[in-house]
Amino acid sequence: MCTCVECGASVKNLFTQYSKDNIRLTTCEQCNQFADKYIEHDFVVIFIDMLLHKPQVYRHILFNRITEQDRVEPHVFRFAILLILFEVYIKWFRLERHCTEYDTRFIEQPLSFQYLYILALCIMEFAMFHLVIHLIIWLSCLWKQEKRIRYNYVSMALIISSFGKMLLILMVIWDYKQLEYSWLVSIIVMASNIEALSVYLNMPYIQTSIIIILGTLGRILGQFLFLYITYFSTSSKSVYYFTKAGWINL
Ligand SMILES: [Zn+2]
Repeated sequence: MCTCVECGASVKNLFTQYSKDNIRLTTCEQCNQFADKYIEHDFVVIFIDMLLHKPQVYRHILFNRITEQDRVEPHVFRFAILLILFEVYIKWFRLERHCTEYDTRFIEQPLSFQYLYILALCIMEFAMFHLVIHLIIWLSCLWKQEKRIRYNYVSMALIISSFGKMLLILMVIWDYKQLEYSWLVSIIVMASNIEALSVYLNMPYIQTSIIIILGTLGRILGQFLFLYITYFSTSSKSVYYFTKAGWINL
């Protein structure tokens, strides 16, 4: 069963094929619009609509494009790995720019150690973000006694809607100083996360905003715990380093 991207109603099929190059899009009986106009659109249009935070495009991807039922689809999984590796690069870039003057202890380590350390931090942040969000959704479903949620779809919605992180690479390429405004990109990513989660869970924005904010707080908490346990515990001036770890926050 497919889904109408305009109203979310179930439709039998998205198009009827008459010959090789002749298809007719199905019209939704509920809203009288094409059930999925994105079938005829190319990737650029889909990407622009994702940037514009259109709920229809997330319905298209999550309900009509993804076929995997029980796990995270391989393409989405690979994209998640790409996002993590990209975040490692951005954090390392920040480390190089901001912290050489007061954080020499870390940059004196071998490059492979630095890379693996930041990689571990990014994987932990990613896991923490997803774990907290899964936990809140699980608790809210338990509270409301609602239908079973597919958590692999929750993760896929979060991963796909984090595509905005790739915009940071443009900041790095064009002007180094502009990376201070990377929080703007973080807000775009959070807004897309809220949109995608609202589409999948069919929840109002206010509820999904709370879920995403709590997930982000969980990620920041995990980040500080990781730093405290692995990096700062040996230092007598741990609080000093703790507040100076600006390069790690994103
Ligand atoms: Zn419809």
